[in-house]
Amino acid sequence: MIKVLKNAKIFSPKYLGKKDILILKDKIALIDEEVDFKTSSMEIKVFDVTGKIILPGFIDSHVHISGGGGEGGFSSRTPEINLSQLIRAGITTVVGCLGTDGITRSLENLFAKAKALEEEGLTTFMYTGSYAVPPLTITGSIVKDLVLIDKVIGVGEIAISDHRSTQPTLDEIKKVVSSARLGGLLSNKAGVVNFHVGSGEAGINYLFEIAKNTEIPIVNLYPTHMNRNRNLLFQGIEFAKMGGFFDLTTSYSTKEGKDRTVGFLRECFENKVIDNVTLTSDGQGSLPKFGSSGSFMGLKIGEVSSLYEIVREVVNNGYIPLEEAIKTITLNPSKVLKLKSKGQIKKNFDADLVIINEDLEIESVMSRGEFLMFEKSLVKSGTFEQ
Ligand code: ZN
Repeated sequence: MIKVLKNAKIFSPKYLGKKDILILKDKIALIDEEVDFKTSSMEIKVFDVTGKIILPGFIDSHVHISGGGGEGGFSSRTPEINLSQLIRAGITTVVGCLGTDGITRSLENLFAKAKALEEEGLTTFMYTGSYAVPPLTITGSIVKDLVLIDKVIGVGEIAISDHRSTQPTLDEIKKVVSSARLGGLLSNKAGVVNFHVGSGEAGINYLFEIAKNTEIPIVNLYPTHMNRNRNLLFQGIEFAKMGGFFDLTTSYSTKEGKDRTVGFLRECFENKVIDNVTLTSDGQGSLPKFGSSGSFMGLKIGEVSSLYEIVREVVNNGYIPLEEAIKTITLNPSKVLKLKSKGQIKKNFDADLVIINEDLEIESVMSRGEFLMFEKSLVKSGTFEQ
């Protein structure tokens, strides 16, 4: 019931120095120079993490947890995710979404998968809707889904500027966003709309329109795949300077795609908008390739492991310090999604922790106070009893 991690180099994401962390049940109860447990008569498990670095559990707010894809016909539907894939990637909080296929995939199935992962030890949420507008819902309305279904924290991914979208008008998008906002207010949730942004020239023009010309706050708008091209990156930086958040997708189908993402993230840091940028993996989503005439050329599957890989890459290359880079998968998504006890190593926050070594490799993962992945060298003395 009580665990103590001793001599941890803590990045909260801010570097806190070398400290001990006391975990009581599923919460961080204390962070101190030296946690003194000699007065306690309870059984305490002590883990010596000297030389290790501790990060907040990662938040991935765009994963096709129940599978996705299908742009190349039925045989190109992608499989659902396994718990172990998420844990190995350091992800302790995940938001599931549907995607292109809102016909053979259902929100009910997505809900069940989110519940299953939660039962297995993670923290999970979901977006209602799919690519299409008007969006799919479970109860018949976006507002009702948000208010009545605990797992639903927003709408998405709604496709804009893409040949796979329903070519929604600005007014249609405004209605989706206003419903999400109202549902979010009534249920005290983020009520955010996650936009799949395609390669169309308009990019996120709709979102600028809404931010500038309606009363809806910019934080209800959350565009993803903004590393698709340079035009979108520029739009994203402008959007961030207005106070909005935007997201870069870490799954890539080519080396060029990976290098572009690393370079764009570096530019976000240099443009001082890193606090308004998140990374998501698009895990289990399809990464289809289309020819110039729109013909389907082939497909790869997004991987959740790419989420932290990009962070590691920018840090190892010296482009962004660890305490800044790690925000994009911890603190920043917790702000977008209004997750009050996630994304930081802080007293009374959930004990979601990722332990990495000096080479920044993931070794152990704790979710809600339980180790889901465990490096045996951590055990110092088994249990400590007074
Ligand atoms: Zn997408």
